Amino acid sequence: MSTPALMPVYPRCGVRPVRGEGCYLYGEQGEQYLDFAAGIAVNALGHGHPKLVEAIAKQAATLMHVSNLYGSPQGEHLAQRIVENSFADTVFFTNSGTEAVECAIKTARRYHFVTGDPQRTTLITFNNAFHGRTMGAISATNQSKMRDGFEPLLPGFAYAPFNDLEAALALIDDTTAGFMVETIQGEGGVSAATTEFLQGLRKACDEHGLLLVLDEVQCGYGRTGKMWAYEHYGVTPDILSSAKGIAGGFPLGACLATEEAAKGMVFGTHGSTYGGNPLAMAAGEAILDVMLEPGFLDHVTAMGDRLRASVEQMMPNHDDMFDSLRGKGLMFGIKLKDAVVARDFVAHLRDNHGLLTVSAGENVVRVLPPLVIEEAHIAEFVQKLSDGARSFAPVAVAA
Ligand SMILES: *Cc1c(COP(=O)(O)O)cnc(C)c1O
Repeated sequence: MSTPALMPVYPRCGVRPVRGEGCYLYGEQGEQYLDFAAGIAVNALGHGHPKLVEAIAKQAATLMHVSNLYGSPQGEHLAQRIVENSFADTVFFTNSGTEAVECAIKTARRYHFVTGDPQRTTLITFNNAFHGRTMGAISATNQSKMRDGFEPLLPGFAYAPFNDLEAALALIDDTTAGFMVETIQGEGGVSAATTEFLQGLRKACDEHGLLLVLDEVQCGYGRTGKMWAYEHYGVTPDILSSAKGIAGGFPLGACLATEEAAKGMVFGTHGSTYGGNPLAMAAGEAILDVMLEPGFLDHVTAMGDRLRASVEQMMPNHDDMFDSLRGKGLMFGIKLKDAVVARDFVAHLRDNHGLLTVSAGENVVRVLPPLVIEEAHIAEFVQKLSDGARSFAPVAVAA
């Protein structure tokens, strides 16, 4: 047998973490890594946060799972808190980001179905988008690396360049259901929507009776220093997908919607066996408890500013490597010069400097630390980044 027991769909690297503590991960031989990837924006409170650990342990011993056939005091409570802290009136819990996106797509289609426009099935989505790996989610991106070999895909998606309002509006016709867009593209390269773009999409939705669906699986839930990334834009969506940081590492996602947009989601239209089970809800409650503590989001903003300023200051020392900085709060991206491949530099930082980051599209090093980092972690990060740039430079020059 040459096929690994673990289906080899990931190019897994040599880091094999067995333990985590705060902002650090430890490998099988005790090697230490500064974790500025945080499980791809998942470990919002770092590793082993006592409140999250305790909440999960306690709930596991009390009641783990019962199915959605029964009343859910746990789900009602967390949903109510999310509603109180967002644009939404109602929430469906899932086990992942891509399922939250599926629920968003279904909610948008059902809305037009029940409001007398069943032909309005098409969501306009954007180049470089990443919405997850289910059939619906890969149909919602035009990135061939995710789609190849999986056709026929789900019909009902159109694609426009990201941040190109005119191109997006030009795609509107009588089959359009709305727009689905990442407020800040993550995998695609940490590209933030412009205010003009997002406000323009909102205006078009209001004018044409369409729905604005924001995918905030990566950029939402405190990551940018606001609870939701849309708060930076003076815009609210009709539907939003959330996940990643929402339960700090426990698998949980959520589809949020206004009462109006969720009109069609009545008994029997959607479901999930695990979605929102008591264990997941306990994890979600623990995260929200911490995030809603006074000063938590301000801390994210302050650390984001600090991170950006520190990297900015160091950039001129490595102007053969670093091109520009992007992102908001602690969703941070360093675009590299064309001569340096982000994936190679990320591997170099990881293997030779004990620093974990993630590569993203457009040759960007994605920096997604736990939201609880302190200034000392930023100083350590910048030191490792600078050392890494210095030791990598000869390779880049030779290439
Ligand atoms: C990660 C991600 C998803 C998919 O989430 P999974 O939990 O991997 O299914 C969807 N949308 C965005 C914007 C993401 O970053």
